Amino acid sequence: MTPTPPPVPPETAFDVEALRAQFPVLARSVHGKPLVYLDNAATKHKPRCVIDAVARFYEHSNANVHRGMHALSMEATAGYEGAREACRRFVNAADSSEIVFTSGVTEALNLVACSYARSVLKPGDRVLLTEMEHHSNIVPWQLVAAERGAEVIAAPVSDTGEIDLSAFESLLDERVKIASMVAVSNTLGTVNPVAAMIAMAKRVGAVTVVDAAQAASSHAIDVRQLGCDFLGFTGHKLYGPTGIGALYGRKELLSSMPPFKGGGEMIKSVSFAGSTYADPPMRFEAGTPNIAGAIGLAKAIEWFNAIDREALAVHERDLAEYGQARLAEIDGLRLIGTAPGKAPVFSFVVDWAHAYDVGPVLDHRGVAVRTGHHCTQPLMDRFGVPATVRASCAAYTTRAEIDALVEAINGARRLLA
Ligand code: PMP
Repeated sequence: MTPTPPPVPPETAFDVEALRAQFPVLARSVHGKPLVYLDNAATKHKPRCVIDAVARFYEHSNANVHRGMHALSMEATAGYEGAREACRRFVNAADSSEIVFTSGVTEALNLVACSYARSVLKPGDRVLLTEMEHHSNIVPWQLVAAERGAEVIAAPVSDTGEIDLSAFESLLDERVKIASMVAVSNTLGTVNPVAAMIAMAKRVGAVTVVDAAQAASSHAIDVRQLGCDFLGFTGHKLYGPTGIGALYGRKELLSSMPPFKGGGEMIKSVSFAGSTYADPPMRFEAGTPNIAGAIGLAKAIEWFNAIDREALAVHERDLAEYGQARLAEIDGLRLIGTAPGKAPVFSFVVDWAHAYDVGPVLDHRGVAVRTGHHCTQPLMDRFGVPATVRASCAAYTTRAEIDALVEAINGARRLLA
């Protein structure tokens, strides 16, 4: 039976065409076809203002931060520290010293694992994750747990791709010292009840970590309301540059943590007898940082904050429902991840071809998707598939692009089935 696609949503303040016009790359073609970019969970495109902000930094005031007593260095420092303040406001942290710039969520989670976890975990302790974690929220914990004699465990995911909350709760006992969870799954699109999960973890005294890599571009983040101890987000999934992201860490925790990397910028004093370290956040920012990236990230946050969030939520909900309904029309297609209220991320397998064979056929038609395990191999094992095709939307995605995806999959079926 073919489900009826949901009706076009009522007029909202969200003008997708005006938004698209701000993204230069969306005007290009691929293999002679208009680009239909549906790999937004991997990285999103950048609006003109972000590209310009990065270019302007290099054109106008390129210099290193914090050290130079000259105009350019002061401008660079003001831009970089201004970006920290923009990140603070974005996650509603109490103090900008709670924001550590990192290269992305991967480095943010490695920082927490290598600095915090390494200094507290003891043999027999546990780190609780979920089955839907990205590898960057699994492997850093495994590396440190192996060193400390601790254990990494994961709460199960249901057939629809939802966290089993009662199983999560029952795994929480005094052995769990850290609970780390993804807010929005990059593979399933599931939106996790992180506030409830954090509250549960706190009842057993666990330190809580949130991977907001995907959530940051769709959900308002308020670390004080969530009550989490750490939270990471990444610029390139928030319409900003690659190689920049941030870790929020609660002040008392960051202050108690040893450095993660050594080098310039992170010290108070250095001698061959020993060194002393700067206060957070500088303690965790050794070396010349990604200054242009931070400035680009601040511009992306400013750009994103100007979007009507309510209207964006309506638009993304429509894409999620429309996409699911349209994909259900395709013979032999199985959607993996059907949680209510999910983000517009569609992972699927087809019974007539391997995911790896579908991707290139779609690309040939101008449709960019991701194929593979999406850095969530345990989730692939959970659903008994080696790989999926993943089509993922952004604020600039349209229903017409989902129609183009469906048409391209049907074309692939004629070719491969
Ligand atoms: N977590 C999730 C859920 C992600 O989707 C990603 C990126 N695919 C990451 C973490 C890692 O982000 P980054 O590569 O920017 O460090």
